[in-house]
Parts: sequence; structure tokens; C-alpha cells
Amino acid sequence: MNRIHGKRIIVLGGAGFLGSHLCERLLADGASEVVSVDNFITGDARNLVEPRKDGRFVSLHHDITEPFAFEGPVDFVFNMASPASPIDYAQLPIETLRVGSIGTENGLRLAQNKGAVFLQASTSEIYGDPLVHPQREEYWGNVNPIGPRSCYDEAKRYGEAIVAAYRRAHEVRTRIVRIFNTYGPRMRLNDGRVVPAFVGQALRGEDFTVFGDGSQTRSFCYVSDLIDGIVRLAVSDVEEPVNIGNPREMTILQFAEAVRAAMGGGSRITFQPLPKDDPKQRQPDITRARQLLGWEPRVALEDGLRETIAYFRRLTEHSDPPRTSNTRVDAGPVV
Ligand code: NAD
Ligand code: UDP
Repeated sequence: MNRIHGKRIIVLGGAGFLGSHLCERLLADGASEVVSVDNFITGDARNLVEPRKDGRFVSLHHDITEPFAFEGPVDFVFNMASPASPIDYAQLPIETLRVGSIGTENGLRLAQNKGAVFLQASTSEIYGDPLVHPQREEYWGNVNPIGPRSCYDEAKRYGEAIVAAYRRAHEVRTRIVRIFNTYGPRMRLNDGRVVPAFVGQALRGEDFTVFGDGSQTRSFCYVSDLIDGIVRLAVSDVEEPVNIGNPREMTILQFAEAVRAAMGGGSRITFQPLPKDDPKQRQPDITRARQLLGWEPRVALEDGLRETIAYFRRLTEHSDPPRTSNTRVDAGPVV
């Protein structure tokens, strides 16, 4: 029997792209109850259509920067709550800093009170524009503390710091996953991240908007691989941060070619200015995940892109899919 079976689990940010996939995986692994706490600031109730069909799932509408508490036992708290795309956190800088700081501490307090494991969704952004390549967990990063990405990067760095402090001061059992660029169904077509941007452009017959000269690199991980890494980390006893991502690195120009190939041709490229502080290179060193969690990615980019394109194609064909009748969104604060 796996170590999720029979457990009561809180997912902060459960209505988002990654959070909703995590909720589904935890239900599939036999959790006794999965509670999503989300204020829907960048999430979407439609992401929860499948979990809501399951009687073990509860969706609560609540801003985690406001206090919250639960009756009864809690075994795991997963903190996925934060705007995550550069466009989102540029529009929501204060909300991003507050959820990464106050929201994370509220989640840690819950875990402390319940004796639960707390898993923090951190990010490759804590490495900033990295001077070490590929990025190993030992690297401390190169972050502009006042630049346009700082509301996100520094919130996530503070998040790791307060997680480490609660572990040291209160002996909370904590886990930190540093997530590298992850893609898949349920990203928002207009969230500005490069995967939905290029796929959306290809579906609409528009040109790919490549920022800068397209020589900057990223490494794209499919969502099911990422979620598997997160669950393995949660049930492990690994307290150090762990990179989870796909080490297959490519330039953004090469990525545009991959989307074009997956679509069977189409879009040309137009170049647009590179956003300030856009990291020049990013590739996870996943030695730690391999050795400590026995994890490595399995889904090839070509396969993941096919699934993602099919999802976005369905979305654009049925632009407003109906909500299910058993939608259950309770008003906060949570008790
Ligand atoms: P997302 O925007 O789809 O999901 C974030 C969720 O958090 C949304 O449902 C949003 O409504 C919720 N949220 C935000 N502020 C909240 C608040 N104050 N109270 C309650 N809920 C709140 O983003 P995502 O891509 O699913 O990212 C999930 C997590 O993973 C984030 O913490 C992000 O920083 C991290 N991450 C994601 C990636 C990636 O490639 N997707 C990479 C690195 C890190
Ligand atoms: N990017 C791009 N065109 C777009 C959107 C993004 O060239 O329409 C680039 C962006 O400048 C960055 C890379 O793609 O170098 C990944 O961007 P994304 O926002 O997906 O993630 P992040 O920068 O946080 O890694």
C-alpha cells in the first residue's frame, strides 16, 4: 500500500494548473480526503471538474493569507498557492509576495498544529539568472532583488527560508521541491508562458512571438512527471530542496521548431524584445532526485506536446466548457 492511502491532505492552491493535477493524483492514490483551498486568483473552478465527482474531495474558496484552521487530523499540507507565470505575477506583485510569505507561514502553522508533513512548491527561479549550469541544489542563485521578477523570486526564496525556520525552530517535517518549467493540460491559454503562448499562436495560425533572439534556454517537464516527483518527495524523508524538472535543455527557437513539428507545420517566427531579467539558461541537475527519490522524467517532449496541443484544441473549439452540477465551493474562512 502506498503512503498516501488513507491520508487526509490539504492542497493550498488546488484549483491551479499543478494543484488540480496533484489533487487528482492524491485521490487516485487512495487519500481519505483531499481539500483544496484556493482563492481562484489565477486558478479556475473548471480545473476541478474531475476531482469534484469524487466524494472524498472538497473545494474551499479562501485566501490563504487570511487565517484558516481545520478540525480533525491532517497528514500532509501541499503549498502550491502562488501566481506563477511572469504575466500573472507582474500584474499581482503584492499578492504574490503576500501569498509566498504570509500564506506560506499560515500553511506551516497548520502543519505544525497537526503534526503534518509540509511540502513547499518552490521554483528554479530561486536560482535567478544562473551563473552555474546546470543548476544543482547547492547553488545559491543570482537574483535581482528589485527587478520585475523579484516579487516572485524573492517571495519564493523567503518561502524556502521560512520553511527551513519552521523545521529548525518547531521541528515541522518539511519538504521543498524546486520546480523547473512544467507544462501540460490546464495551463491557461493566455497566461503568457511560452508553452500555451506558442501552442495558442499555432492553433490560431499566428506567428510565434520569440522574445530576444531565442537563444535563451529552458528545459520542459510534462505535468505527470512533475506530480510523480512531488508525491515521491512528500512521502520521503528528504528535507533538503530537490530539483524536479526535465534535463532536456533547448533554446526557445528550438522549442518553437518542436511546436511547429508537433502541429505539422504552420507558424513563422517574429522577434520581440526580451523581458528584463529573463534568465539566459536553465537546466536542472536532477542527480539528487534520481538518487534520493528514484525519480526521473518519462514523458518525451513530443508526447507531452501532443497531449497539450489536443487539450488546447478542445479548449478553443469549446471555449466555455460547462461546469458540473455538483460544484461545491464553500465560502471561507475555513473551520
Ligand atoms: P497556477 O497559477 O495555475 O496555480 C496557483 C494557484 O494558487 C491558483 O489556483 C491560484 O488561484 C492559487 N492562489 C494564489 N494565491 C492564493 C491565495 N492567496 N490563496 C489561495 N490560493 C491562491 O500556477 P501553477 O503553474 O499551477 O503553479 C503552482 C505552484 O507551482 C506555484 O507555487 C508556482 O510558483 C510553482 N511552480 C510552478 C512552475 C510551473 O512551471 N508550472 C514552475 C515553478 C514553480
Ligand atoms: N518566451 C517567448 N515568447 C513568449 C513567451 C515566452 O520567447 O511568447 C520566452 C521567455 O522570454 C523565456 C522563455 O520563453 O525566455 C520561458 O518563458 P516562460 O514565461 O514560459 O517561463 P520562465 O521565463 O518563467 O521560465
